[in-house]
Amino acid sequence: MIAKTKYIPDGKKELKELPILHYLDANFLYYPVTSARCPEGETCVRGGQFVKIGEVIGTRKGTFFEQPMHATVSGEVVGYEKRVDQSGKVVDCLIVKNDKKYNFHSSIKDRSEAEINQLTKEDFVTIVKDAGLVGLGGSAFPTYIKLESKDPINVVIANGVECEPYLIADYSVMMNYPHEVIEGLIYAMKASGAPKGIIAIKKKYTEIAERLNFSLKQYSNHDIKVVKVGNYYPQGWELEMIKNAVGIKIPQGELLSKYGVLNFNVSTLQSIFNAVKKRLPVLERLFTISGNGIHNSSFRARIGTQIPDLIELAGGYKNVEIPKVLILGGPMMGVNVTRDDIVMTHTSTSLIVLNEEIFVEEPCIHCASCVYSCPVSIQPTQIMNAYKVKDKDALKMLQVNKCIECGLCSFVCPSKIHLTEYMRLGKRYASK
Ligand code: SF4
Ligand code: SF4
Repeated sequence: MIAKTKYIPDGKKELKELPILHYLDANFLYYPVTSARCPEGETCVRGGQFVKIGEVIGTRKGTFFEQPMHATVSGEVVGYEKRVDQSGKVVDCLIVKNDKKYNFHSSIKDRSEAEINQLTKEDFVTIVKDAGLVGLGGSAFPTYIKLESKDPINVVIANGVECEPYLIADYSVMMNYPHEVIEGLIYAMKASGAPKGIIAIKKKYTEIAERLNFSLKQYSNHDIKVVKVGNYYPQGWELEMIKNAVGIKIPQGELLSKYGVLNFNVSTLQSIFNAVKKRLPVLERLFTISGNGIHNSSFRARIGTQIPDLIELAGGYKNVEIPKVLILGGPMMGVNVTRDDIVMTHTSTSLIVLNEEIFVEEPCIHCASCVYSCPVSIQPTQIMNAYKVKDKDALKMLQVNKCIECGLCSFVCPSKIHLTEYMRLGKRYASK
């Protein structure tokens, strides 16, 4: 029987009700010198030097962009150690000992409305670039590159769909900081010249719609609307969201700007607000810890915080005698990690801790559930078979590169085959 599905349990209800603990007290903050998009990097501070919040402490270097690193507490630079970053890689980190004084660097001061009204497109791009902003929904794509597009833009979309189960960071931002999201959206509209703004949320988020619509009354001179889209998965994938929010079908691989659209995650728009209004880089993130192997908790903590500090505050692991599976991010698209000395980065959202269950992969029964569920209409089984025999031509012919790694094929497979992992491996092999 075909188990085609788009509806998956989202596990968010209990997490949304958790109190958010604001954790500022980390003794040491760890700043990865590299990231998934920036394989190289260098620091510009030395051991014993005192730094302040917002001060540039180094630069991550990618093939097409550079991202400044900023201190998120004040304190003393004390050295380097290796830690696990959001991509699951072990990377070098610069360590700052928190002096708990929270002194801001002299560059951090609010801009007045008059100053903001004078900003040109180039100014917005420079502000966002200097703040090191990247897509906080997980893409880590440099935000300034989207803003500097020369294409005429008709609409900027704030993506608040967050369809991945167990993630509530965007929900929390929209619920607690609606004005910052709206003002960030207005700045993105000004920078791109877009006359319209859309905030896309799930249909079932009636409380968020009410909160945003109430807040929008203060911005009636701007054409911004809240649009409700489907509750299914992967509705948050930008091409699916854009199709349903504004009715524009954009082929995979094409630039959104060519179709007059820019899309930012709502947390990214909040970071644009902070960069423009307060001259701040990203200092904090909401981070949840969940799963049957740990006490569920929700934190707002500084970038650079060690996740073991948060695990301890949450009450530690449950049933310590049972081995654990650790997933960074959500259960569908997240990354499995084998150690928990993880540090919080710009794209950190969640750690899921599950008591290990042994799933034995059964042979494929050719039910076609994976094929019917795939949102990009590729054939996971055939791709898996092509990868197993290392047939690069077949992988390309089967368009493995169209896979968005949404995890649905693994989710629906009655034989418990880790198809998504084969898709990742196949993509990597085909591009060698
Ligand atoms: S992980 Fe890739 S192949 Fe599997 S359903 Fe999602 S897009 Fe399709
Ligand atoms: S891989 Fe799994 S979901 Fe796909 S056809 Fe085989 S048994 Fe069905």
